[in-house]
Amino acid sequence: MTTHSTLLAALATVIDPELRRPITDLGMVESVQVEENGRARAVIRLTVAGCPLRETITADVTAALSALAGVAGVDVELTVMTPEQRAQLKERLKGGAAERGIPFNAEGSLTRVYAVASGKGGVGKSSVTVNLACSLAARGLRVGIVDADIYGFSVPGLMGITQAPTRVDEMILPPVAHGVKVISIGMFVAGNQPVAWRGPMLHRALEQFLSDVYFGDLDVLLLDLPPGTGDVAISVAQLLPKAEILVVTTPQAAAADVAERAGAIAVQTGQKVAGVIENMSFLTLPDGSTMELFGSGGGTLLAQRLTRTVNAPVQLLGQIPLDVALREGGDAGMPIVLADPGSAAAKALAGIAEALAQRPRGLAGMKLGVTPV
Ligand code: ADP
Repeated sequence: MTTHSTLLAALATVIDPELRRPITDLGMVESVQVEENGRARAVIRLTVAGCPLRETITADVTAALSALAGVAGVDVELTVMTPEQRAQLKERLKGGAAERGIPFNAEGSLTRVYAVASGKGGVGKSSVTVNLACSLAARGLRVGIVDADIYGFSVPGLMGITQAPTRVDEMILPPVAHGVKVISIGMFVAGNQPVAWRGPMLHRALEQFLSDVYFGDLDVLLLDLPPGTGDVAISVAQLLPKAEILVVTTPQAAAADVAERAGAIAVQTGQKVAGVIENMSFLTLPDGSTMELFGSGGGTLLAQRLTRTVNAPVQLLGQIPLDVALREGGDAGMPIVLADPGSAAAKALAGIAEALAQRPRGLAGMKLGVTPV
């Protein structure tokens, strides 16, 4: 005999693909029972009509119920939540904290926020961001990315995301790829149009991302900043004061010079510098020898200089070699840490993710703030 609680227990294994919680926790199950003909019948409430993931939910519900002994077949009917039910859902998601604002700033928020910065474009900042995110997610951490590279947004492509975010009233549900929740300015721009926004609009857009996008409880939030030291970096510092900066550079001394400015902004904004990542460090040739295409030493040099500038220890967290597979993984929407985890580049990225995952909270890397002159 299949009891109602057995049916509900089966449905509790169905996770909403966007909200990442069991559908039974989200008020999405209107009814479920076994009919006289032995078929299970479930009525599932979607958050919004035209939910892009209706097929996934239907398939998952069907699979969960079919697995039960004594169920001869499954019929799933989809309905849509009423405004009251949606309001209840939002209430539940926010855990009763109805006030608006940026959840990562809430007292007691344990989310570590890293703003990935670079002095100039093309050094691999976005590639590093998505690979670190996927590597951290693969370790079981709850990870989100905000692609704040307004002019050069590339994170959706690198993560293989074509799906648009779902809107539940004023709440925006970010698409999930490789276990990472991703929101990008690129998801709000039609086609490949340029984004011509000045500072205040950028600030507002970022603020909206950070307060209206439902990320849920995250262990790590990564922000992909535009290159340089522009408005967005300042906005991030204002909107997320506890964001720590990760600076990506190439080994070239000249690149380290410009990257230093991106890191040194921490002095003005009072942020911490979480470390330096050197990318495109060398290329391994077919004969096994290595070639330093962009010179060497930039990462170490930058870490030393930033240590002095911010007056706190800044470490070189890793050196990532050039690898055609890294670029190909990006083009295919499958980051190299997942596509080819055994490669040297993936190992270097995973090592940096490991270091970030294990970074102790508290004083480590904290700016000491006392500089007698
Ligand atoms: P940024 O965000 O700094 O502008 P991207 O991450 O978009 O840089 O990288 C620029 C280009 O360089 C992309 O085509 C990317 O695939 C490629 N790339 C980045 N890092 C590497 C690497 N270590 N090996 C090979 N190609 C890389």
